[in-house]
Amino acid sequence: MDCPYCGYHDSKVIDSRNVNEGIRRRRQCLSCSSRFTTYERLQPTNLFVIKKDERREEFNQHKLLTGIRKACEKRPLPSDTVDRLADDIEAELYHLGKAEIPSAVIGDMVMARLKSLDYIAYIRFASVYREFTDITALKQEVDTLLSADAEAPQPAGQLPLLPDNRLKKLAKNRRKSRQ
Ligand SMILES: [Zn+2]
Repeated sequence: MDCPYCGYHDSKVIDSRNVNEGIRRRRQCLSCSSRFTTYERLQPTNLFVIKKDERREEFNQHKLLTGIRKACEKRPLPSDTVDRLADDIEAELYHLGKAEIPSAVIGDMVMARLKSLDYIAYIRFASVYREFTDITALKQEVDTLLSADAEAPQPAGQLPLLPDNRLKKLAKNRRKSRQ
């Protein structure tokens, strides 16, 4: 840092100490010998979300949590599950080490986790996030879930969407209609 008195570009550190998660340095100008103080602090990395309309918005953990909570409202999920899910996603986002992340990436992360957790919450989240414009698109998504659920073992801990016998019947009908 340039000397505030004479503008000279170099100084020596005559004292340094840790203060409030930063470092305070007492410096002396190598030209005019004036003394001044600088502080060095770690700048937390800001994460920005690129929205669909290309606007950038600082990542907001609270907003993420609110969205997931809304989708999971009144679902029989353990209370800390939702918080942990949001924490996981946040950690993963920072782990990517990028300064900007498209909102679609975050949405997909939430959907992938909700899908393995609870189909109702998943569909609720997807209907907001993917902005299903008509009931057909929504029905297609539900159909896909139902057939995947009936034909493959359920993910561990998944809450059943329909009673077992209904699911089997649905899968049977779908298989028939495909033949
Ligand atoms: Zn100076």
